[in-house]
Amino acid sequence: MRRRRVRIGKFAHMAALESTVDMYDLRMSEGVRPLYEKVKAFIKEEVEPMSEKFFELGATREDRWGYAPGQLELLQEVKDKAKANGLWNFFLPDAETGEGLSNLDYAYIAIELGKNPLASESMNCAAPDTGNMEVLERVGTEAQKEQWLKPLLAGEIRSAYAMTEPDVASSDAKNIACVAERDGDEWLINGEKYYISGAGDPRCKIMITMVQTSPDGPPHQRQSQILVPVDTPGVQILGPMHVFGKDDAPHGHMHIKFDNVRVPYENILLGEGRGFEISQVRLGPGRIHHCMRAIGQAEKALEMMVSRGLSRDGFGKPLAKLGGNTEMIAKARIEIESMRRMVLTAANAMDKLGNSEARVWVSAVKAMVPIRVCEIIDNAIQMHGATGVSQWTPLADMYTSQRTLRLADGPDEVHWMVVGRKEVNDGEDNARDYNPKETFLANTSNVKEGVFSGPA
Ligand SMILES: Cc1cc2nc3c(=O)[nH]c(=O)nc-3n(C[C@H](O)[C@H](O)[C@H](O)COP(=O)(O)OP(=O)(O)OC[C@H]3O[C@@H](n4cnc5c(N)ncnc54)[C@H](O)[C@@H]3O)c2cc1C
Repeated sequence: MRRRRVRIGKFAHMAALESTVDMYDLRMSEGVRPLYEKVKAFIKEEVEPMSEKFFELGATREDRWGYAPGQLELLQEVKDKAKANGLWNFFLPDAETGEGLSNLDYAYIAIELGKNPLASESMNCAAPDTGNMEVLERVGTEAQKEQWLKPLLAGEIRSAYAMTEPDVASSDAKNIACVAERDGDEWLINGEKYYISGAGDPRCKIMITMVQTSPDGPPHQRQSQILVPVDTPGVQILGPMHVFGKDDAPHGHMHIKFDNVRVPYENILLGEGRGFEISQVRLGPGRIHHCMRAIGQAEKALEMMVSRGLSRDGFGKPLAKLGGNTEMIAKARIEIESMRRMVLTAANAMDKLGNSEARVWVSAVKAMVPIRVCEIIDNAIQMHGATGVSQWTPLADMYTSQRTLRLADGPDEVHWMVVGRKEVNDGEDNARDYNPKETFLANTSNVKEGVFSGPA
């Protein structure tokens, strides 16, 4: 019988995630370490005490969709300090307008930012502004930058990203149906969006809106992205969409109607039909930033799990030492370290290969991290008993935010599709002559002459 050699080695790695040794050097740059230490100290000394007061005041506010007197002033004070200390706009990689950090260095900082709900905003690194600023910085015209990027970079206004629609499966962006028609030197926009995060905040002034401009064009050139100021006549904020029964006021995830909204023609970003290209710019960094901060949340949840487990006794022992609880703590630590490495490697891939080439890495991370962080937070809730789902710990909110991250910026399944599709496409060559019966594939593995030679 003729035996053909099969290229086993090629099956051993995910071709799309193939890397150079260089890509696995995940150290933080030495030059960034002092900044990283400063961020950690700033969160502890300034952001944490401010957050406590901020939320206390917030609980007394009369208007759910506004702030209590003194709340924004508290936040502003910390923002001013952050700016004065150079702790500002870290997220823009290699840009004149930001700190010029690589994605890898930023990852270390973002993990710290994820540990406190106001840390990102205090240092002007909060979503969805970060993604929107990155888009404006990369593809905005000088006039667009002057009008919108400048105040966003200064932390004076906030923004939203409006893509998802209630009536179409929006994880496939080709379905986006909100229509923008050119009418002279204006766009006329009609349609409906929902779950538009941050659009409830009175400081939110601008929305990057995904619209359909060329319904008959090639599928990937039908959509465009247009800047729509929130106060444009016809923009109707219908109300908040709830997340597990909460409205997340005043940030909010809003249901919005565009009813004959008119904006100048030059509000288009990059050009007609280039909405997908912009998504490449926006979604890569946005997604990985979420995952970086998620690691910070997992760290926080583990810390709380251990503290609760050691500070409360049952059945004659600290809870942490009962049943499988020590194992649960161990598993959380192991998961966090494996996720950390994945996130750092994906960030490094973005630096070394570019956002577009690294997109499979980003999808792999986005498909992995929120699910596992959800599990860790869920276990921290369990260790707390009823207190875990109460208003006394941030765990319920943390769980909610991670659970929704499994949907936002592309549901898990879409990211599995990206990773799986690449593997399958790359595997086609090998599959053509793959025939274990004919080639007696076992001869090329660690099975010699039918005797299993694996671990002794
Ligand atoms: C809290 C929160 C905040 C959000 N913030 C924003 C925002 O600021 N701006 C914005 O535009 N949107 C936002 N979203 C919306 C989010 O991005 C969308 O929900 C998401 O993109 C999915 O779109 P969809 O809801 O239309 O689900 P659909 O596209 O209808 O998909 C539903 C389900 O179908 C399955 N599915 C889809 N594709 C595949 C596939 N290829 N393979 C297998 N299964 C698949 C998945 O299980 C998926 O969950 C937010 C959502 C939440 C919950």
